[in-house]
Amino acid sequence: MAKRLKKTDVVIVGLGAGGGIAAYVLTKAGMNVVGLEAGGRFSPQDEQLNELGNSFHFNIFGRAKANLEVPTWRPNASTPTVPSTASPGPPALMMNGVGGSSIHYATQSWRLLPWNFQTRSATINRYGASAIPAGSTVADWPLTYDELEPYYDHAEYAIGISGKAGNIRGKIQPGGDTFEGPRSREYPLPPLRQSGYTELVAGAGTRLGWHPFMGPSSVHSEPFKGAPACTYCGFCNNGCFTSAKGSTDLHVIPAAEATRKLSIVTHARVTQVTTDKDGRVTGVLYLKGGKEFFQPASVVLLATFTYENARLLLLSTSSAFPNGLSNNHGQVGKHYMSHNSTANVLGLFPGRKLNRWSGLGAQATVVSDWDADNFDHSGLGFIGGGTIQGAMQLQPISAASTPPPPSLGIPNWGSAWKAWLKQNANSVGTLLPQIETLPYEDNYLDLDPTTRDTLGYPVIRATFDLQQNDRLATAFLQDKGSTWLKEAGASVTWKATAVPIGAHAHAYGGTRMGNDPAASVVDQWSFSHEAPNLGVLGASTFPTTGGRNPTLTLQALAWRTADHLVKNWKAIAA
Ligand SMILES: Cc1cc2nc3c(=O)[nH]c(=O)nc-3n(C[C@H](O)[C@H](O)[C@H](O)COP(=O)(O)OP(=O)(O)OC[C@H]3O[C@@H](n4cnc5c(N)ncnc54)[C@H](O)[C@@H]3O)c2cc1C
Repeated sequence: MAKRLKKTDVVIVGLGAGGGIAAYVLTKAGMNVVGLEAGGRFSPQDEQLNELGNSFHFNIFGRAKANLEVPTWRPNASTPTVPSTASPGPPALMMNGVGGSSIHYATQSWRLLPWNFQTRSATINRYGASAIPAGSTVADWPLTYDELEPYYDHAEYAIGISGKAGNIRGKIQPGGDTFEGPRSREYPLPPLRQSGYTELVAGAGTRLGWHPFMGPSSVHSEPFKGAPACTYCGFCNNGCFTSAKGSTDLHVIPAAEATRKLSIVTHARVTQVTTDKDGRVTGVLYLKGGKEFFQPASVVLLATFTYENARLLLLSTSSAFPNGLSNNHGQVGKHYMSHNSTANVLGLFPGRKLNRWSGLGAQATVVSDWDADNFDHSGLGFIGGGTIQGAMQLQPISAASTPPPPSLGIPNWGSAWKAWLKQNANSVGTLLPQIETLPYEDNYLDLDPTTRDTLGYPVIRATFDLQQNDRLATAFLQDKGSTWLKEAGASVTWKATAVPIGAHAHAYGGTRMGNDPAASVVDQWSFSHEAPNLGVLGASTFPTTGGRNPTLTLQALAWRTADHLVKNWKAIAA
């Protein structure tokens, strides 16, 4: 029998990138919030500059919850389920702890483009209905970029983003992303510094007539709110030993705790969201130290990352929701997307020391010319696109895994490969396209019928494959990458093969937002169509991925949801 605790205003399940922002906004507005977090607390002192220990073994992240429930994968419903292709693989896939995956994320902090919010209607307007790929369920977001803009701005200033604006209130700004939607003001911090490599590709991009710029990052280029500036150690994926990072454990969560309105329970694993007979949520059940607790709440916000958001809803069955909470329209798990970010392009700059082992991954020259609808797609056979990034942070093991150009006929093993690496590993430049994927009827999440986690709950199964639109966009962007590297002086370029990723740090959908309850799980405020005092935070609500990383957008949405809750408390919590 679960121990019943004192009722609170709001329970936030998961105190990561999205949950941390919601806790900040709600507690600042005076609400009592309980934050239930499956992991513990980490401090900057836990950070180690150790690629082997952190990216391949389990030194910091441990065999945390996320590593014991990695989704399984199958490319389609007719093929057997297998262990997932994962990006990044465990132990780095996801973090369990106060701050969540923002503790070890790479800090690229993007706004989506206005087109990403209106992909369906804008595509039909420009190219006709036949341009929507067959089988795609792509939908417009139920809000526009302009409606989200103030919340992007709040988030950027709360966590400290370094960058250069490209469009302030409609006026194009040289040096920034000239394709971005209008922003209300400049970034709070200047962009991260350039390196030899980022300058090399920036010069080449400009010569090609493209519009390169330094990508935005939540690593602080200058001291910010008492936190120091970055040392460019290049180990952001293990946390930040100097606290120069905008992870939620370093900024917004401490500020929320300072209000004395946030009560954090660590090592508290939520297993079910409970409901009454009318379909309103009543609280959550969680396990801590082998005991079960019931935390009643007027409102529950689920912020446990895409896979766990869907899993907890599907596991929370009741008489009002026999197929899972908020799933009476069969939408939980649908419209799943896994970002297409494995299509690197490599180029050899013989004899040139690029020194990409220095610096950090968000220290990147980026072009947005081939993203979204920033170029004419007539006759190309695909819609959308992606950013292409030339970034630093090539750690030693990754460098030692560099494949030689296929034209040389050297295998990825043996003495010939080692000799090639010795001579060339520091002279290989890489470009990373971050390519949009669309939602399809055939790509979805559900509960795996056979694989279970250590508590006996089914893990999520991702049924996902790259579709023709994704593959054509990949080929197009990789060609652009080759052109870019050659212009920068590469003697030869070669391409990685894009593969579908079953378990991805950039995972989207499963609890899509929309105006139609028959085609979405939550409304434009991220509250459930079916259980009105249940909110869902995270990229699981995104109707499209865009061609850039998700976190700042999900944080802006979390801010907007919390703001809406504060302003409409009586109606939602009634
Ligand atoms: C190595 C790496 C690099 C990345 N780089 C970038 C980047 O450069 N830019 C970018 O935009 N994004 C990046 N990402 C993705 C980014 O980390 C996520 O988009 C973001 O953290 C997701 O936020 P979230 O709040 O949905 O989930 P998280 O931040 O993962 O937080 C979810 C929280 O929920 C908790 N939780 C889960 N299940 C339960 C449960 N049952 N009960 C209680 N608590 C639970 C977890 O412990 C966790 O703390 C990266 C991710 C990784 C892994």
